[in-house]
This record gives sequence, C-alpha cells and structure tokens, in this order.
Amino acid sequence: MSDDQIKKARRHVNQSEGLIFERSAEGKCGMELPRLDVPAADARQELGADLVREDVAGFPEVSEIETVRHFTRLSTWNYAIDYGMYPLGSCTMKYNPRVNEFVARLDGLATEHPYQPAELSQGCLRILRDLKKALLAITGMDAVTLEPAAGAQGELTGLLLIHACLKDTQGNPRKKVLIPDSAHGTNPASASLTGYQVQNIRSDASGQIDFEELKRLVNEDVAALMLTNPNTLGVFEQRMAEIAAVLHERGALLYMDGANMNALAGVARPGDLGVDVMHLNLHKTFSTPHGGGGPGAGPVAVKKRLEPYLPVPQLVEDADGRLRLNEDRPKSVGRVKAFGGNFGVLVRALAYILAYGPGIRQATEDAVLNANYVRKQLEDLYELPYQSPSMHEVVFSDARQKKNGVSTIDVAKRLIDYGFHPYTTAFPLIVHGAMMIEPTESESKAECDLFIDAMRAIAEEADTEPDVVKTAPHSTRVSRLDEVAAARKPILRWKPQP
Ligand SMILES: *Cc1c(COP(=O)(O)O)cnc(C)c1O
Repeated sequence: MSDDQIKKARRHVNQSEGLIFERSAEGKCGMELPRLDVPAADARQELGADLVREDVAGFPEVSEIETVRHFTRLSTWNYAIDYGMYPLGSCTMKYNPRVNEFVARLDGLATEHPYQPAELSQGCLRILRDLKKALLAITGMDAVTLEPAAGAQGELTGLLLIHACLKDTQGNPRKKVLIPDSAHGTNPASASLTGYQVQNIRSDASGQIDFEELKRLVNEDVAALMLTNPNTLGVFEQRMAEIAAVLHERGALLYMDGANMNALAGVARPGDLGVDVMHLNLHKTFSTPHGGGGPGAGPVAVKKRLEPYLPVPQLVEDADGRLRLNEDRPKSVGRVKAFGGNFGVLVRALAYILAYGPGIRQATEDAVLNANYVRKQLEDLYELPYQSPSMHEVVFSDARQKKNGVSTIDVAKRLIDYGFHPYTTAFPLIVHGAMMIEPTESESKAECDLFIDAMRAIAEEADTEPDVVKTAPHSTRVSRLDEVAAARKPILRWKPQP
C-alpha cells in the first residue's frame, strides 16, 4: 500500500470520528430497563412541574456498543504518560505509580466526608500529619500548610504570608518583589495579585541570578526575592546563602519556588540554604497525576517567624496524641482553600514518599542523570545557550536549525510523528527559541535513547528536508492547528444544526 492509501484507510477507521451527537439516530437506546413493579411516582407532584422535563433536547440516541467504541477510540487520540515519555520541561511529567491510586481510592479515604468531626476523622488527619512531617524533613523548614491547590496558589499564599509578616513585624509590608528574568510566569502574576510591584532581575552569563545587580536592588522597598532553584534553565543557583544574607540584612525575605524539588529532594534542603518560605508542587515532584488543569497541591513551608500567619485551620496534635483542627489563630492570613486542600492528591503524595523512603535521593539522582544523558547525546546537534551543569532538565535552543528556517515549535511538532510528546517550547523567555527537556527519573536508558534517536533524526531532517519538519505533524488526525484561534476563539460547545 502506498502512504496515501494507508492514510485514506486510516481516515476511514477513525479519522472521521464525529461527535457522539452526530452519531445519534432517533429511537436508538443504550439501555433496557425492566418493567416497573412498583407504583409510578408523579415527579411533577413531588418536585414541582417547573423542575421536570419530558425530554432532554438534543440528547444523543446511541446504542451501548456505539458509546463504548466512541469513547474508547477517542481515548487513543490522546498522548499520556502511560503511553510514552513526556519530556515537557518544568512540568515534571513523571510516572504515577498505580499503588498511589489504589491507596487514594480506599473506601475510608475516598468516601470520608470533609465535615466529619475531627474525633471521627483521626485516620485522615494522621495522613495529613505524616505528610507534613515528611515534607518538613525533605525541605528543612519549620511549619507547613497543605491547603493550596496548585503551585501558583502556593505562591500567592506564600506572598500573603510575607505581606502579613512584614506588616506585623516592621509595620510595613513593603512595595516590591524581585523576580529573575528566567522565572516561571506564575511568579510575577502571584506577586502582582498580592499587590506587589514586580521588579525584574537579570540572569548572568552562567544562567544564575546576577548577584551584583541583586545587591544594588535590595532596599527598604523590597519585601522579597522569588527565586526558583534549580531555576528554569535547569541551573542550580549556587549563591543561595549569600543571597539570603543580603536580603535578611536589609529586612527582606527569600521565597523559593520549589516546583523543581525533584532536583533537590533527598540531597539538599532549602531550609538549610536560607529560604524563608517556599512552595512545593506535589503534582510534580511527588508524583500525582496532573495536566489538563486537574486537582493539584502546592503546600507552603515556612520558617518559624512566618508560622503565626499560616492559613487556618492548622492541624494540632494534643498531648494524648489526638488530632484536631485549630481555627483560632488571630494572625493567620485566613483560609485559602476549603477542606484543608485536595485530600486525594495529598494521600497520593504520602503514598509515594513512603514507598520511596530514603530512596527519594535515588529518584533525584536519576532525574539529574537522565537530563544530563540527554544533554550529552544531543549537544553536538542542538545549541546549548548556557554551559552551566544541568540539574533535572536541559534547555537547548533552535539557533542551529533556524538557519534552515526550522524553529523550536517545528521540531516539537515533528516529535509527535516520532511517537513522543513535545518538550516545552519558547520557555524560559530568556532563551530565544527554547527547547526545554525534562525526562524525569521515570525513563529507562532505552526510552531516553529512543527520544535521543528521534531528536537526532529530526536535526538531520532539518538540514536535508526542512519542509517535512516545518509542516509536521503528519501522522496525526489533524495537522497544524491555528493555536491562536484555539486559545482566543475556542469552540467548546456542540450546537444542533438548524
Ligand atoms: C509548574 C510550575 C509552577 C506553577 O505550578 P502550578 O501547579 O501549575 O500552578 C510554578 N513555578 C514553576 C517553576 C513551575 O514549574
């Protein structure tokens, strides 16, 4: 068969899969109910006539097998971490062990009502206590809240703590937050949401924060520096202790974006590096499923001086070992999320940490090893804008491929044809045409080698037949989409044809 024939045949099978509404045919039904053997209730009378309808307008009428096949086929259109490597830099798409899912679904955990009184929820509260202890051991901090539902909400919470602390202890929350130009976009957004002005700090030639510039910029207007470590270039900020000293001398605080703790866990503790407040992304480092905006958890860990401001309620352990939730904290910034956070995510994170135990260090070392292996195997073909050692991720640029008109987005799209999810494109902003690759520790050498082979083959194509790369992907049901229109004018709802 020719390529064209294959494509045609394939389109016939599933490329033309319409919406389930479009498969509807009047009179078809996906279920069969037994005859009623009790008196029929009059719903109109029970609920009120205005709440009862005879029919659901436009509801698809399809058989059971059509429904099952439709959704089964759709599920194969998606890429998933359970399908292959997902080298999306900064996102830490590691494998989510099945045992975590099993634990989170246990009856006593999955069905526990969040308003159950504390004396009847001791098991669940113990899980929260144990997770807090584990996170404090890993971060070297003094206290932690598990409430925030994402990294970004953790940032907002952490900055609210800084605001409350400075106001309380210095009588002035100060005006500015310093943020390096390599930072994740959520950092300036969170600072601005807290009411702070954002001041950018340059990175130096090594990809670290420009220390001389920092010394110049820290004054009595600066509330904090928000630093990611390792930063989004995958480079470790080596001068943490000096940076903390400069800030502390001048009454400011050090915030660490700990979304990248998978490069430090078990090896170095931010608490020992002078960090005052940080957030963690449990849905990245501690392996709970994420992507698609699903539930996450961004716990915020602090040093003693910030503890009084932590959100309510705080978990307290009484002398007899009973656990309870304390709402009576006059200096607290208040509640940031209902029900103490996304409990299911917290359960998965604890299961992951307990399963690894001290082996968490091995996971960190493997994550760093994998990133450096990929770096070594690709650095002869792709430009490496910063030569500093890589931690958990490596950032190349498309500078060499650009000569043939091939950009990072083209290479990323072509990776799809080779069976991989694309890496992160165009971030961090300080690297023009960035290719940000994070294999994570989950990948074996064999899987890394497949990815490397794909990247090498694409570099070759970019030289010899650049159009193939520029028009990729070719193997998917749809090719290049208008991504701007998809974001600005999304069509999210099916409407019946008139
Ligand atoms: C992912 C990430 C965030 C944001 O976390 P969300 O859970 O997506 O809100 C912040 N900073 C860095 C460095 C990240 O990688």
